[in-house]
Amino acid sequence: MAQVVVLGAGIAGHTAALYLSKFLKKEDGHSVVVVSPRPTYNWIPSNIWVGTGKMDRKQVIYELEPIYRRVGVDFRQAFARTIFPEGTAENERPQVEIEYSDGARKGEMERVEFDYLVNATGPKLNFGATEGLGPQTGNTVSVCTDLHAVEAWEKLQEIIERAKNGEKLRVVSGVGNGTCTCQGAAFEYTFNMDHELREAGVRDNVEVVYMTNEAELGDFGVGGMVFKQDGYETNSRLWTESIFRERDVHAITGAAPQKIEPGKVTYENLDGETKELDFDMAMLIPPFSGQDLKAVNREGEDITSTVFNPAGFMKVDGDYSGKPYEEWDPDDWPRTYRNPTYPNMFAAGIAFAPPHQISKPRTNPNGTVITPAPPRTGMPSGVIARAVARSIAALIKEGPDAKLYPASMTEIGATCIASTGNSMFNGTAAGMVMDPVIPNRHRYPNKGHRNPKRTRGEIGLFGHWEKLLIHYLFVYKAHGRFGWSLIPE
Ligand SMILES: Cc1cc2nc3c(=O)[nH]c(=O)nc-3n(C[C@H](O)[C@H](O)[C@H](O)COP(=O)(O)OP(=O)(O)OC[C@H]3O[C@@H](n4cnc5c(N)ncnc54)[C@H](O)[C@@H]3O)c2cc1C
Repeated sequence: MAQVVVLGAGIAGHTAALYLSKFLKKEDGHSVVVVSPRPTYNWIPSNIWVGTGKMDRKQVIYELEPIYRRVGVDFRQAFARTIFPEGTAENERPQVEIEYSDGARKGEMERVEFDYLVNATGPKLNFGATEGLGPQTGNTVSVCTDLHAVEAWEKLQEIIERAKNGEKLRVVSGVGNGTCTCQGAAFEYTFNMDHELREAGVRDNVEVVYMTNEAELGDFGVGGMVFKQDGYETNSRLWTESIFRERDVHAITGAAPQKIEPGKVTYENLDGETKELDFDMAMLIPPFSGQDLKAVNREGEDITSTVFNPAGFMKVDGDYSGKPYEEWDPDDWPRTYRNPTYPNMFAAGIAFAPPHQISKPRTNPNGTVITPAPPRTGMPSGVIARAVARSIAALIKEGPDAKLYPASMTEIGATCIASTGNSMFNGTAAGMVMDPVIPNRHRYPNKGHRNPKRTRGEIGLFGHWEKLLIHYLFVYKAHGRFGWSLIPE
């Protein structure tokens, strides 16, 4: 009889919880508990469409409680605060302290015991990293949550109205700090805005600017891609640049926003120059850090730095020796996502600590870091969560020597479909497949160090249909409905 506690109910946590409920039956005395602060699951990739008014917020969020009741998972709407992996002086069972985030128990603390723990708390949206960044206290909008996306759409509607009245305007979409990841989302929002402005007949009045910390377009935080298109070798830089040219979107690369005032972003570039750009609307993605989770040992000592890296991401079976970028090896990347100090704890999705950058690290002459952080997109997050759930089920059923299930990002691929307008007949999408996500020179000594046949980029209406299909399939899967596990992550 074992209790597994999953922290977070996003793509990784929810996937892990569904698989754990499938593998570990209540009848056998096992229990799965999910701790997450919001009552809803957010299918984040479709927030882009909420942010351009093509989908209602209700189409991208779903109540978790009824899903968990149906599949036999215990749900606590709460924040995880402190992990006690060794138990405490009073209770030797490993436990996690949670704080209820809503309802009658709001603010109440509780200790939940666990035999195994999955940390899937995703990213903390670190708007504080750049002065003036963010929707609440800053001067920019975001599409990182469903509520942010609603606000982004309100702002975009204002822009459309003003442009219809003949005003000449500028919208900026991109990243809000030199260390951001998630360029794919910013790229996608940029082209969805472009599409909306064209549909509204006001594109001539609105300049669209993409601001990115990538040294060149097409890097996407994975060091770019080499792929075949129509029989020719090309790369993600040329491919992406042609999309920008075709749509008349101006790109500012190698940018690190320093300060955002109403209508003005001040940024440094890779040459160390400080520049300013005026805007009428800016959607800038924040940098991500880990959530503020703490860890405490049985003696009551703070062991947060043993369990988490300085950015708050959980250490797993990666190589965190901090060796120089030039020396990193595909084998440095985690395979089983098990914490090396506490083998009953795992991390999945954005919550695990990446061992190093994938894109070449760059610092400008002022010492400002301008390098995309390694992405952990939805597909790997789901695949890793499934592998972690299978490993935990195996450990519970077969004992501590059970074989764990690997899911190294140097071996698994990812599909990233960036829609450029949601419409059944005139929408298009830029679809990229990279296999594997992290270049693996052992397996692929060829240029680009990825599978040359499977890594590719395509643009067209078909990609848009794929993205729509993914939305409906994944939403179906997230509901845990009949046959859900047959749908791949
Ligand atoms: C706008 C946008 C578009 C994107 N589009 C794509 C795409 O098209 N394709 C793709 O592959 N990826 C896409 N991504 C990336 C994808 O959304 C992430 O990779 C994925 O959500 C990561 O999953 P996760 O479970 O690690 O984190 P999340 O999905 O963010 O989930 C984290 C969970 O932890 C919970 N939590 C937070 N703090 C605590 C706490 N203290 N205790 C307990 N729970 C906590 C949160 O409430 C949430 O439920 C996009 C991202 C954005 C922002």
